[in-house]
Amino acid sequence: MGTPSNITEPGNTMQALVLLEPHRFEIQTVPVPRPGPGEVLCQVRATSICGTDPKVINGKTPGWPPDYPFILGHEWTGQVVELGEGVVGWQPGDRVVGEPHKGCGYCRQCLTGNYNMCDNYGRPETGHRHYGFRSQGSYAEYMVAAARTLHRLPESIGYVEGTMVGSAGVALNGLRLAGVEPAATGLVIGPGAIGLCAIQLLKAMGAARVICVGRAGARLNMAREIGADDLIDSQRGDAVQQVLDLTCGRGVDISIESAGADEGPTWAIRMTRLGGKIVLLAHFVPSERTIPIQEMSFKQLTMYGVKADPNTYDQVISFVAAGSLQLKPLVSHVYPLGDFARALDTFVNRREGAMKVAIQN
Ligand SMILES: [Zn+2]
Ligand SMILES: [Zn+2]
Repeated sequence: MGTPSNITEPGNTMQALVLLEPHRFEIQTVPVPRPGPGEVLCQVRATSICGTDPKVINGKTPGWPPDYPFILGHEWTGQVVELGEGVVGWQPGDRVVGEPHKGCGYCRQCLTGNYNMCDNYGRPETGHRHYGFRSQGSYAEYMVAAARTLHRLPESIGYVEGTMVGSAGVALNGLRLAGVEPAATGLVIGPGAIGLCAIQLLKAMGAARVICVGRAGARLNMAREIGADDLIDSQRGDAVQQVLDLTCGRGVDISIESAGADEGPTWAIRMTRLGGKIVLLAHFVPSERTIPIQEMSFKQLTMYGVKADPNTYDQVISFVAAGSLQLKPLVSHVYPLGDFARALDTFVNRREGAMKVAIQN
């Protein structure tokens, strides 16, 4: 089979960003991985830096990675290069976006669609993979991924914006779990990358109005640009009272907490109407935290925990292709793999109003 001209035939080695130990990484020449049965070798085109990446790099995440040296990266797009044994449905050159989670496929969680919570998590001998966390990831020229984690990326979606499909997938997972009532009033606390996806998805799924709470600045302005109807500067006045004032004193139908700030869950409880729903999308720093449980009970609220982005990619891609979800504006900076240290600094320190920072090969 001839290789399409737009992919580069791999040699035996490639450049990769290798994490050597906590805090220490460098670009190294490493062997190109070979696809096993059910796997596909892909040429990586772009990877977005995820909020978890700096935590893993700094050694703050026990079990991630399982060993050193390790190649991180899990929010990636690329092209199919070579098929492993038994793979059908893909051709060299196909444009893809890859999911980070691949379950064992046969445990109870996997069989009920919850492969993000596979009972065999972290046991590669069962077939489980978690790319960029437990299995080698995408900060490299090539990557091996299980065929079942790949989704077709249409020509209309660029490689860089395509790396955001998973972030939008986290938001979609949460909104789908909770359900969005027609013409609902939604609230998003924290207009980061996932929060900005949640604003758009709330609208796309039928919300009539979305309020966004965040610190004044580029992110809150972006919230307006991508469709939020009312903005509340969290540092000016009483944010809870302002949300109640905007909703005739009742509170919103559905609240999305995507800030990860200490006061976020409590605000969500106070800002949501009687019988309403709260979706927790943020990664909270593990700590003792009190939330007004009694208020939650008496208001008969339902709170949804959300883990990752299972079964969301094709729906997200459809929303993007249809124009109801914009991912492009959320990527503020793009760097080559060789500039990873600068890219990481830009992302972590939010330099130049950085939002999502991508590595492009
Ligand atoms: Zn991520
Ligand atoms: Zn499983």
